[in-house]
Amino acid sequence: MLEKLIDIFIKFPGIGPRQAKRFAYFLAGQNAKFIKNFSDLLLEIKKEIKQCPSCFRFFSGNQCEICTSVGRDKNILMIVEKDVDLENIEKSGIYNGKYFVLNGTLSLTNNHVDKLRFKELFEKVKKEQPQEIIIALSVNPEGENTALYIIKILEPLSKKITRLGRGLSTGTELEYSDKDTIDNAFKNRH
Ligand SMILES: [Zn+2]
Repeated sequence: MLEKLIDIFIKFPGIGPRQAKRFAYFLAGQNAKFIKNFSDLLLEIKKEIKQCPSCFRFFSGNQCEICTSVGRDKNILMIVEKDVDLENIEKSGIYNGKYFVLNGTLSLTNNHVDKLRFKELFEKVKKEQPQEIIIALSVNPEGENTALYIIKILEPLSKKITRLGRGLSTGTELEYSDKDTIDNAFKNRH
């Protein structure tokens, strides 16, 4: 039983075997009410949380408020790796355009192309014709590799493509960047 739980926690992003074990033992130590509440929430996830067919973010409620908002600039499209990056940029309040969640970055050997939404991205840009596309990926070799791949894919659509600028130093992940850093990188995009 504990082994099964550990196997599940190991699949979580950023969680190694030791942390997975700690989570499993933590759950084992909780009372019945806690476990009931937790399992109820798990069962609700697929009912409550939907994925937007346009930007691919997860949301709860009736519709994706970012894609359906008329107050947001549909001429700018920002490509992010994952939902938490989007959330952090939203929290900073500096950006008022639309998004696209790519679902990760390419490895340096271009493995796992399949899980990334390049095809969907191409279709979205082709259909919605934003004036500017901002690549907002992590500043590391994988992010760089992915950015080049995106530029190549979108080339036939001849769009203005910019990248977040200085202020994001090497190794920076948007998920952990503060408002000033994001603000700076956004203003200095090129
Ligand atoms: Zn959306």
